Amino acid sequence: MEGNIFGKTKSDLDDSHSSSESSLQSWISWYCSLPGNEYYIEVPEEFIDDEFNLTGLSVLVPYYNQALETILDMECAEYFDDQTESEEQDDFLKENKKPKRMKPVDSRILEPYAFMLYGLIHQRYLLTRDGLRLMAERYAHTEFGTCPRYYCDESPVLPVGKFDQSGKESVHLYCPICLDIYNPPSSVHQSIDGAHFGTTYANLLFLTFPELIPQVSHQIYQPTIFGFRVSPLSLSGPQNQWLRAKPQQSNNNTVNDLSCKTENLHIDKFL
Ligand SMILES: [Zn+2]
Repeated sequence: MEGNIFGKTKSDLDDSHSSSESSLQSWISWYCSLPGNEYYIEVPEEFIDDEFNLTGLSVLVPYYNQALETILDMECAEYFDDQTESEEQDDFLKENKKPKRMKPVDSRILEPYAFMLYGLIHQRYLLTRDGLRLMAERYAHTEFGTCPRYYCDESPVLPVGKFDQSGKESVHLYCPICLDIYNPPSSVHQSIDGAHFGTTYANLLFLTFPELIPQVSHQIYQPTIFGFRVSPLSLSGPQNQWLRAKPQQSNNNTVNDLSCKTENLHIDKFL
């Protein structure tokens, strides 16, 4: 799964933002309403306006300033082209001639980087108290679907990423009962970058809201042949069933242990 699949140009969609600029819908609202983007939540502009929250993103996203202004619905009529700017700056210094020319950036070039920047901001917003609360509410309402594993009894799942860096893998769905991840059932979600959700928030969410941790299911598939159980000692037998077994008492201890550990994390700035 390579990075270019995430660079899809939604400008190809009929309902592109440029065609709906006459409406009062914000870019963020428009982006989150696109088909396949149902997993996203709308990041408040106040969060994006705070430069502290965007620290380090300017070196990760090309056309960062233009992409940021696009996300914030700021008018970006014309911009300096980086290459032209540097070349002309040299000329200006050498010959002390006329000022630099302006060169517009094609919106179709800019759009994938605006998606990328919003996704990385989204990843950070999910770590805030409000972000966690919104995702917890959506999880409680089973808005992200259910676990396909039979014995998880249609437990709600959460969208997660395997990486925090853009362009590595698409989004997956995490089940807190079987502690495993799955591909989304719809292919439209395979073009969603998992980094837009990241590796941390889902685990932080269940530490923040331990009441959302479902009752652990002890039911495990038992393979049989003509009604006789296949021996766990057999090579084709259920040798790793103990991995699914989680005694209730140790589960509670684990939660307490992890809760204690989070107190040592420096996440106060986000929470
Ligand atoms: Zn499951």
